[in-house]
Formats: sequence, C-alpha cells, structure tokens
Amino acid sequence: MNTPSERDILHYIGGADDASLFQRADTVRRSVFGDEVYLRGIVEFSNVCNKNCQYCGLRAHNRKLKRYRMTPDEIVSATDVVAREGLGTVVLQSGDDFSYSARTIGDIISRIKDRHDIAVTLSLGDRGLDEYAYWRDCGADRALLKLETGHVKLYERLRCGESFQERLHRIEGLKRLGYEVGSGIIVGLPDTDILTTVRDMVLLSHLELDMIAIGPFVPSPATPLAFNPAGDVELSLRVSAIMRILCPQANIPATSALDALLPGGRQTGLLRGCNVVMPSLTPEHLRSDYAIYPGKNMTEHNAVLKLNTVKESIARMGLVPSQSKGSSPRRHYVDQSAPRRPSGDYACRTAQCG
Ligand code: SAM
Ligand code: SF4
Repeated sequence: MNTPSERDILHYIGGADDASLFQRADTVRRSVFGDEVYLRGIVEFSNVCNKNCQYCGLRAHNRKLKRYRMTPDEIVSATDVVAREGLGTVVLQSGDDFSYSARTIGDIISRIKDRHDIAVTLSLGDRGLDEYAYWRDCGADRALLKLETGHVKLYERLRCGESFQERLHRIEGLKRLGYEVGSGIIVGLPDTDILTTVRDMVLLSHLELDMIAIGPFVPSPATPLAFNPAGDVELSLRVSAIMRILCPQANIPATSALDALLPGGRQTGLLRGCNVVMPSLTPEHLRSDYAIYPGKNMTEHNAVLKLNTVKESIARMGLVPSQSKGSSPRRHYVDQSAPRRPSGDYACRTAQCG
C-alpha cells in the first residue's frame, strides 16, 4: 500500500484492519527514522488572537480568557531552556497576534540562532509571505500552518470568513521560500464525515509536506462549538497511520489533542506511525492560559520535570528521545526567485470576523 487509492484508505479508515494498518505504519516509521523520536519544545509566547475560529479557545471573542504576551527577552529566555534541555528544535507559537511586528519576530529569531544551534519553527498563523520571507532570512527553518479541513465551505465557516485559497496559497508560498513546511487537519470537526476526512488526507498527501499534524477535535468551552461531540481518537490515530504510509518521510507528531481525550494517547501515537512529540516549555505561570482546549497545558508543573517525564516514557517504549534537529529527510525545493527580503511595511491586519 505505497500509494493507496481512496478505496484502500476507506478500507483502513473504517477500522476493518487496524492491526495490519498500525503494524505497517510502525514498520514504515522505523525504516525511515529508526528508534528516534524527535522532541520539539514549544514556546507559546502569546495567547492573543485577532481571529475567531469557532473551535479554538484563543478566539478573539472569548472574553473569559486571561490574555498574555511574552516580551522578546522572555521568549529568548524560554528558548534558552529548550536548548539547555538538549532539544534540537524550538517551536514559536501564538494566536494570530499581529502586535509583534515582523522586525520584532525577526530579531527574536536572530537572537535565538546566534545563541543556539537549534532549528526554529514558526507557528504564527496567517502572516504575510513577505514577513515569512524576512523571517527565513533571519534564520527560521520551518513553518507550521494547518489547513484544519480541506472542505472549503466548512473551513470558511469555522474560520469565520477566512479564505481557504489564501491559506493554501500561503502554504505553497512557504515551500517556495525554502521552509520545511508542516500542515494538517483536525479530525472530527462538526459536519464532517469519513469521506471529508479521506479527501483531506488525499489533499495533504498531494501537498508534499515535511510535517503532517493530525489531531482530534477537542470541544473547548467559551466557543460556539463547546457542546459538539469530540473527535474520535481511534479515527485520528488511523488517519496518522495512513498518512505515515502515504508520506513515509514526513515528520508526524503525536499531538497533545490525543492526550487531551485519551490519557497516554501520545504514546499510542508513537506506536502507530508518529515520530515527533512537542512538549510545552512555556513558562509555568502562563502555560495554563494557553487554553486552546481543555487538557492542553492544564498542569502548572515545572516544565523541565514534565519534559523529563516525557523523555522517560519514550525510553520505556524502547524508543530514543532524540537531541537532533530532526529535519524531514525530504529534499527541499527552493525557488530562488521568491521574495527573500522585507518588502513594504508590516501593518497589522485586522480581524475579518464579526
Ligand atoms: N494561530 C495559529 C494558527 O491558527 O495557525 C497557531 C496557533 S493555533 C492555537 C494551533 C492549532 O490549534 C490550530 O492549527 C488548530 O489545528 C489547533 N486547534 C485549535 N482549536 C482546537 C480544538 N478545539 N481541537 C483541536 N485542535 C485545535
Ligand atoms: Fe486564533 Fe489560531 Fe485559535 Fe484560530 S486556531 S482562533 S487563528 S489561535
């Protein structure tokens, strides 16, 4: 099943042959990555967002959330912890908070790259490609921008009028800029079914991504979808496993949304084709306010102790928590004609959604 058809995918996704699916995914993962599990330290530096995605606890209209923004010095210090703990990648993540100018983010990236030999992943949302070009020049290595769903109408409804084509265009643009690009979907969003998920998977496989993040929908209080049912964890694990077989060389994280719905869900993911874990190294006093959904960052325990627990649980599975940067072995296409310098000003975009 190297390039499964929609029919093959439908067979596996329905759970008819889980044992064989998960075993094949594990074999493919091992053949590409051996025993290594790549660790990425996430620094969630702002929970302010100008968007209103109906599924997300950080949405602008959620007035119940205590908002925070870390200063550039605080962000760089948090990254020092990531490097000191031997993690090869830091992921800088935030809501779509455009109060950080392109220059400010660029300076943060340059400072991190000056201090540490680690990869920098950006998960900042819908910033301009000119900004991403500038940040690439500052040393950013990777960008993560999830499609969430490939169903255009649903995307535009759930993301309150954001354009699906623009998101897709941005992902393609990031590839041309030479980023290692990650994308992904939320499994079990309201008004989706198995066919939607299969189509999403086919779309993701055509995008030739370096990283593919699959996680179940977790209903979040104070959002319009608070009372919708959660996504099916088993289905989400099957989707990751099939994506592993479709895209052997992609990094596939065992997402925190798995753990939020099923204790130990991330470990299960590592036995079923996933090869990456992304522990939060956001400072303790802020971490629980990065409340995308319940179960995410709920603990205020010391970040380093928590990281050690994650490393130990990986080792207990006979796998190796890796210190490497953990790039995808895919070869990267770089379009030299793409813009690589800041062009124009970086005026904040305002929220589109009422
Ligand atoms: N603002 C940036 C963006 O949207 O790309 C990055 C931060 S956003 C909080 C990171 C991811 O959280 C989103 O891409 C989405 O997939 C995920 N997410 C948000 N709400 C979720 C929910 N209720 N269940 C599962 N995943 C969710
Ligand atoms: Fe903001 Fe990202 Fe959450 Fe949407 S998913 S509300 S853009 S943080």
